[in-house]
Amino acid sequence: MISWDVKTQSLNTELAQHSQWPVPASGLTLQCPEENFPVVAALSDIIRYCNDRIQLTQVPDYQGAENGLQFENNGTVTKVGAAVDAGLVPFQKAVDAGVDLLIVHHGLFWDPAYPITETRYQKYKFCIENNLAVYSAHLPLDCHREIGNNALLAKELQLKTLNWFLEFEGNHIGLIAEGGIDRNEIKQRLSDLFSDGITSIEKGSNCPQKIAVVSGSGASAISHLSDAGVDTLITGEVKQNSFNQAEEAGLNLYLCGHYATETFGVAALAGEVAGKFDLEWEFIKTDCPL
Ligand SMILES: [Zn+2]
Repeated sequence: MISWDVKTQSLNTELAQHSQWPVPASGLTLQCPEENFPVVAALSDIIRYCNDRIQLTQVPDYQGAENGLQFENNGTVTKVGAAVDAGLVPFQKAVDAGVDLLIVHHGLFWDPAYPITETRYQKYKFCIENNLAVYSAHLPLDCHREIGNNALLAKELQLKTLNWFLEFEGNHIGLIAEGGIDRNEIKQRLSDLFSDGITSIEKGSNCPQKIAVVSGSGASAISHLSDAGVDTLITGEVKQNSFNQAEEAGLNLYLCGHYATETFGVAALAGEVAGKFDLEWEFIKTDCPL
């Protein structure tokens, strides 16, 4: 934090000699309360740090997704926020909390070129009017080995990582952890971690051999599980026909919410940035139940 130590002795002497205003015998006490001078960091320094930390250039993403700085502000940051989605409401909550750089997992851009109208216009207008920068980190914050959603989720569940699978353009996104843990114990750990509840589809072993962790949408991972020797999947959400797949292949599926499973990475990155640049940070929670 800012430490502003003003030595007042010589200043008081100067004032006493030259000022037309009376200076009390005790001298003037000059104070600079910290809260009046918030720490400010350069947006460009933070972006450089984030880009390097998430290995931005080394992790390709889905077509249209644009990781990195998506929306610029005036170039300075006083408080960092973390949110799962780049929505108008998370933006409003972030600004209410004094955030001027919001790190999100699901960014503003997913589709090909589109007109900036209606809610898109509202979002862009809101960012400009409120000096809010938006930084997005999608797949880089799923597959990151230290601050990624899957790595952190496995850590929270006390699971030991064996290897990674689900390759996307050279990077493996999903995590495979060691099994040998009773299914009830896994379910208990998940229930403790996800207070909004989980959905269990238990069609596999009572004592899973290998457990896959895939944050967000895990439907497309299901067909890859057997080849990887995995009989249990912890994920955010699946599709309706995933139930049949689980029954037919003898799998356990634990669905903990797309939103809930993707809160870890952005929070970790925002916390790291705050520590590195001596800034405040806050998780901007929304009530997404999905
Ligand atoms: Zn997602």
